[in-house]
Amino acid sequence: MRLILLGPPGAGKGTQAQRLVDEHGIPQLSTGDMLRSAVAGGTEVGLRAKAVMDAGKLVSDDIVNAIVSERLDQPDCQAGFILDGFPRTLVQADATEKMLASKNMALSCVLELRVDDDVLVDRIGGRYTCANCGAGYHDENLKPATEGVCDKCGSTEFNRRPDDNPETVRTRLQAYYKETSPLLGYYYAKGLLKPVDGMAKIDAVTAQIDDVLSSL
Ligand code: ADP
Ligand code: ADP
Ligand code: ZN
Repeated sequence: MRLILLGPPGAGKGTQAQRLVDEHGIPQLSTGDMLRSAVAGGTEVGLRAKAVMDAGKLVSDDIVNAIVSERLDQPDCQAGFILDGFPRTLVQADATEKMLASKNMALSCVLELRVDDDVLVDRIGGRYTCANCGAGYHDENLKPATEGVCDKCGSTEFNRRPDDNPETVRTRLQAYYKETSPLLGYYYAKGLLKPVDGMAKIDAVTAQIDDVLSSL
């Protein structure tokens, strides 16, 4: 299965991707995570991306296209993958089409998570992740079973993203509507777009995705 998860920041792409990884054993390719680890590692890409990410703007197409293309060549992507947060511009979508064709990989579908803006702001405001394994949580909507302890790995250290603040969120939403939402028409025209009600509870969203995938 080769999937793209499309949707605004905070829609639940990462949350659903983690569940798809557990269910289907295919890797999650999150350009946001890859860029954050480049920033943390102080690589050249990280140095170029940091200020752009902190401002809530999009990193250049050349940088993200290159990191995804390289990642797709790794052996664990040969059985399938979940693209989370990529492509995010029409230029990236065209590059995706070319890179997948050259690697003999066809997309299964593009899952669109639909969520209203006010809900996105709440979701991003309450978001945090395990510092050790990356599992995602929310202050109200998804708490660990034992407060302060990661369900998956038992770690007691958690992170909040510097760009998850109300001001940057507005810039990120604008970037989504301006640069990413045209991809909805792009993939609709290819017959690949599968809308999902992302306003539903996390389990109900997963169930909708399972239905879509079993109908492919
Ligand atoms: P994205 O990867 O699209 O930016 P995340 O998966 O990180 O979004 O989700 C943003 C926040 O909202 C997280 O804190 C997550 O726990 C929470 N969340 C995700 N899906 C839902 C949902 N369906 N209902 C309520 N909260 C959700
Ligand atoms: P979210 O799912 O909450 O929008 P991400 O973790 O996907 O956040 O992305 C965080 C930031 O990383 C973005 O605001 C942007 O600066 C950068 N980024 C991630 N993916 C891309 C991409 N495909 N193209 C350009 N910039 C990206
Ligand atoms: Zn953990």
